[in-house]
Amino acid sequence: MGKILLGKPAAENVLDRVRQRLAQIQGQGLRMPKLAVIQVGDDPASTVYVRNKIKTCEKLGIARELFRLEKDVEEDELLRLVEKLSADEEVSGILVQLPLPEAIDADKVMERINPLKDVDCLHPENVGRLWLGKPFVKPCTPAGIIELLEFYGISLDGKRAVIIGRSNIVGKPLLALMLQKNATVTICHTRTKELKEVARGADVLVVAAGRARLVGADFVRQGAVVIDVGVNREVSEKGEERLVGDVDFEAVKEKVYAISPVPGGVGPMTIAMLMNNVIACYEGQKKEVGA
Ligand code: NAP
Repeated sequence: MGKILLGKPAAENVLDRVRQRLAQIQGQGLRMPKLAVIQVGDDPASTVYVRNKIKTCEKLGIARELFRLEKDVEEDELLRLVEKLSADEEVSGILVQLPLPEAIDADKVMERINPLKDVDCLHPENVGRLWLGKPFVKPCTPAGIIELLEFYGISLDGKRAVIIGRSNIVGKPLLALMLQKNATVTICHTRTKELKEVARGADVLVVAAGRARLVGADFVRQGAVVIDVGVNREVSEKGEERLVGDVDFEAVKEKVYAISPVPGGVGPMTIAMLMNNVIACYEGQKKEVGA
């Protein structure tokens, strides 16, 4: 059976660095970093994600403020709030929980975030910097995947990596980060032909499709590393809700060198990297004003 890449110890490693930096800031008597979180509507999954992010801030001593807007809020009202937070010196980072309701242009909202406060790396300026290989902040989930691999001593240098999923929050930015780590990267989507064969060519296979058990043992080469990003809600025969990934964990774990579980793999890494980005934004703003 393959090694299980648990997210918790790797996430704690990132959070230890965050704690050390926070202790220094506190020791110097400086204003503490603050994260502003905006949630539009009451999608249950988003509510859970937002709660976890706020809870982690609380545990670390990062200041936080949650803004909850009705799901039928006018786009202009949301844009005004983002602009206000962008200009607020007390706020180090701004996170707009996605997805937004369809009536709101999410790209427009991202463009209004002060790039120095863009903890999710979704502002076009930060996306550009990422592709140029000089990111100011790295997007949380892809950066968390790289950290997870590094924590367990898995190098990407010269490896064949295959990513299933080309979204702007996972697949595409992960492609950029993996290239920077000298992997040879292929990205797949719903129009990819012979997906199974392409996936079987991977030394490192990352699955971020949002399709429960899309990837079975026949997608995976013996000895590969598999990272499962998917989070899918399923109701068991007993009527209990549970989370499952995009990979058939039980079948695949027998064949691989290593595999990340769902839950407990990539999820904790995403939150840890978010905290890391709040600090990065805080430092970036201090540099900007020459403090
Ligand atoms: P998304 O925006 O829906 O994108 C899914 C991508 O997968 C698309 O590019 C889609 O292709 C591709 N895809 C879907 N079904 C496929 C199939 N059968 N074969 C090949 N490609 C397929 O999703 P996302 O936001 O990237 O999220 C993906 C999953 O990761 C979700 O389950 C989400 O909940 C999870 N997630 C987890 C974390 C975490 O921290 N653990 C963070 C973010 C996301 P097309 O482009 O052709 O449609």
